[in-house]
Amino acid sequence: MVDKGNLKATLRRLSSWPNRNSNGPHIAEAAQWLREQFAQIEGSTVTEIPVSLPVGPRVPVEIDAPQVLSVRKGTHPELSENLVFMSAHFDSLSMVDKLHGAAPGANDDGSGIAALLEAHRMLSTDSWPRTLVFAAFSAEEQGLLGAKGIAKRAREENWQIDAVLNNDMIGNSVDDLGRREAGAVRIFSEESPSHRSRELARWANWMLAQEMPDHELRLVLRPDRMGRGGDHTPFNREGFTAVRFTECNEAYSRQHTEADTVEAMDLDYLAKNVEVNVRILRHLLAAEPAPTVVHIDRAQGYGTGLSWSGNAFRRYRVYWRRTTSAFWEGTEEVTGCEWASSERSKDEWEFAVGAIDGIPVPAN
Ligand SMILES: [Zn+2]
Repeated sequence: MVDKGNLKATLRRLSSWPNRNSNGPHIAEAAQWLREQFAQIEGSTVTEIPVSLPVGPRVPVEIDAPQVLSVRKGTHPELSENLVFMSAHFDSLSMVDKLHGAAPGANDDGSGIAALLEAHRMLSTDSWPRTLVFAAFSAEEQGLLGAKGIAKRAREENWQIDAVLNNDMIGNSVDDLGRREAGAVRIFSEESPSHRSRELARWANWMLAQEMPDHELRLVLRPDRMGRGGDHTPFNREGFTAVRFTECNEAYSRQHTEADTVEAMDLDYLAKNVEVNVRILRHLLAAEPAPTVVHIDRAQGYGTGLSWSGNAFRRYRVYWRRTTSAFWEGTEEVTGCEWASSERSKDEWEFAVGAIDGIPVPAN
């Protein structure tokens, strides 16, 4: 169960600093506070990785920006090499006075950090085959620089990242026009042959439609909002699967101003979005290995035959949707590495195969 008291306490603490500008004095205090919070969670190992920020439009002097990671090691001898990330940024910025202006940043992105800490607590009562990483980035507002540094390092050191769930503004439900939307959260994903972000989003939408029918995971088939950016993108650029969660109704008038306060937020809505993350993480952390290749038999015929590399005694899930549909429309569990249908033509349907709890691999 998500504890709304915890969410509120985190939001109040984070917004008690005048701002959490990555160039200012409070970012180190916030990083220290985060390290202490992570350290209180049983079984977590906390590390801080400084990322050097070069002088730029939003960086007056060269500084090191702290990135705080809390790792909960997986228990499986091989799968524990695979990392599942949940991330958010803990810096904030005032666009009124960039260096000194008030920026409580309760929703942007205190909401993501509150979600991170609460999901961490919730998932720490169990052990998982895969390794869980909670990443709190800074210098997001300087151009995604913290996440860029970590993603680059991950690529250089060959970290096996299965997925990054990035949360940035997930606790506001009323927009500037007074419209309320508290029954859905958006998931943004990039379509690319170098990672499986779109397939992660599509699968999560399918899974949550069953597990949380009262809360829609709204697919937006784009990397992000128009002209905006987030910490999932540097991971995409390095070839990692990474998606962004953001509320449906943004209040632009409160972003990057002193009006981004806890009082303006919707904690019931934030709690639902924590649950979205926790449900997805539970599946990804427990998933058996995915097939490496899914082959579709291209011989002329009315049906479809699939085969994939994997374990003949393991269970897999086959998915299908019409070529015009963004959503998986049907699935079937099978044991072994083959599946055939006489009624579903490969010319009219898209197929994919995944481990029971994992990201499906498109057939081609
Ligand atoms: Zn943000």
